[in-house]
Amino acid sequence: MELILATNNKHKIVEIKSILGNSFSGILSLSDAGLDIDVEETGTTFAENAYLKASAVCKLSGKPALADDSGLEVDALGGAPGVYSARYAGEDQNDENNIKKLLSAMKNETDRQASFTSVLCLCYPDGRAIYATGKTYGKILVEKAGVGGFGYDPVFYSNDLKKSFGEATAEEKNSVSHRSRALHTLLEKINL
Ligand code: IMP
Repeated sequence: MELILATNNKHKIVEIKSILGNSFSGILSLSDAGLDIDVEETGTTFAENAYLKASAVCKLSGKPALADDSGLEVDALGGAPGVYSARYAGEDQNDENNIKKLLSAMKNETDRQASFTSVLCLCYPDGRAIYATGKTYGKILVEKAGVGGFGYDPVFYSNDLKKSFGEATAEEKNSVSHRSRALHTLLEKINL
């Protein structure tokens, strides 16, 4: 089965492709598939946004489409930035500014527990939508550690790896990440 990844995030594409390996006959990014689409994430949950992205790309292409909606949830901030993780410092913001805002919000906070969540939605042209969720737990560091990964990786200390995702190799991050956990659950659900 050929699959289209409903994302323009290059980091997510690399992670998803390396975890799915040869589970599909071909994995195409939006640009590989010649699709120019940017779906507005108007949902209030990861699942709603994942469905919005996957269903739009599936309808446009006529092929199965997989979307990941993900984010960082910080206990002391009541679960923020959550679904707004990409836009935490405002629309058109970047990883650098999102991290700055997070570190400043957490400045005097002693409870630094946090988690990443990934919700995947796989839409088929016949209308079926299959969901899978993955989580990974850690703490927000007081400053950046490492330059690997993307998004909040340099300030997320992984409880599993005992180092930040920014300090981890791609293989290490993939062995415990929210995204890889969700992908493995999805593969079990569709028996691949
Ligand atoms: P969206 O799923 O496109 O709405 O954006 C997810 C946002 O959550 C990203 O832009 C990052 O800020 C953050 N995020 C999601 N997954 C990760 C991850 O694996 N590492 C670091 N940040 C992540």
